[in-house]
Amino acid sequence: MSTKDWIEKDYYAALGVQKSASADEIKKSYRKLARESHPDHNPGDPNAEERFKAVSEAYAVLGDDAKRREYDEMRSLFGSGAFRRNARGAGGPGGQPFDVSDLFGGAAGGGRFGGGGGAGFQDLFSSIFSGGGAGGPSRPRGPARGRDVETEVALDFGDAVRGVTLPLTLRAPGVCDTCAGSGAKPGTQPVTCQVCHGVGTTTRNQGSFSFSEPCRNCQGVGTVVEEKCPECQGTGGVTKTRTLNVRFPAGVADGQRIRLAGRGEPGERGGPAGDLFVQVKVRPDELFGRTGDDLTLTVPITFPEAVLGTDLRVPTLDGTVTLRVPPGTPGGRVLRARGKGVVRRDGRAGDLLVTLDVVVPAKVSDEARAALEAFAEQTPPAAREHLDARVRRFD
Ligand SMILES: [Zn+2]
Ligand SMILES: [Zn+2]
Repeated sequence: MSTKDWIEKDYYAALGVQKSASADEIKKSYRKLARESHPDHNPGDPNAEERFKAVSEAYAVLGDDAKRREYDEMRSLFGSGAFRRNARGAGGPGGQPFDVSDLFGGAAGGGRFGGGGGAGFQDLFSSIFSGGGAGGPSRPRGPARGRDVETEVALDFGDAVRGVTLPLTLRAPGVCDTCAGSGAKPGTQPVTCQVCHGVGTTTRNQGSFSFSEPCRNCQGVGTVVEEKCPECQGTGGVTKTRTLNVRFPAGVADGQRIRLAGRGEPGERGGPAGDLFVQVKVRPDELFGRTGDDLTLTVPITFPEAVLGTDLRVPTLDGTVTLRVPPGTPGGRVLRARGKGVVRRDGRAGDLLVTLDVVVPAKVSDEARAALEAFAEQTPPAAREHLDARVRRFD
């Protein structure tokens, strides 16, 4: 998760500083934002808590010269934001960077803020900080938008061509209803961490260097849950399952990403829902291929069929069609069955493109050989004169 985070997240924007900011400016801005968003000053406000973590995460990288250099390098390599949707699992340069999952108590399922496509912070930042940090931080206008959810669906070839509606079951982290995300047993409150005094990071001195790292006692949260919520075991998050019917339009392509606005995770306290992104995989068909809205099919024919012509009955996706092969058709010729490809909702239709493959028998009977030899005698030689001049150069 960490390499992807580095590529996706703008830590400078998170701290409301310019990319050229000095270490001092970064520290100052971090202290100010950490103070403002600290859970103790905003009891029961999950937005503040999320902001606080985001700020801590950003500072854990930008507050450390070596990590900051590595972060800058990686982002300039990948281009800020350009890789956002494709960065999953990308093995970035620079080895194993600081793993932010440590900060949030485990990424997969357990963490309050882990999982769920990971787009949450970035989106949160862009709603909090307008102008990528140039204008400095400003308060969000309303409740936080829900997170975007990303999922993958494999469709059969025919379903993708015709369009299909499928029920999609999503399991995504959501806020625990029992404790409203605090992780504390109802009736109790998380208490300020005694080790970091609520800051979420601790400083370790080593020689003349000092390192800032997430507090181990509270996993960087700044507070500790003494009596855990029985529903979520103190994580504040639970996995929720929901099913929705998703309509895939006719002609949906392999690799296409479908966005269903407002079908992501619900917003906090009435905030707008995130979006659902469905990555489509199309299973290949045994017979048919596809180029855009055209279907493709290769049909073998014999040499006599090519020479004499024939009618070919070939399958389409939903029936058959008879195609006329005119006499004297060369191998490789493409015949077109109009309207037998993808039919779009607006009526536009692709075609079925049938490529004729003249097959040469590896073996022939004696009779066939005799007939072919007789045929050869009656056939003028192939037109190769244009090659002769070049061939003669090597005589
Ligand atoms: Zn709970
Ligand atoms: Zn702590």
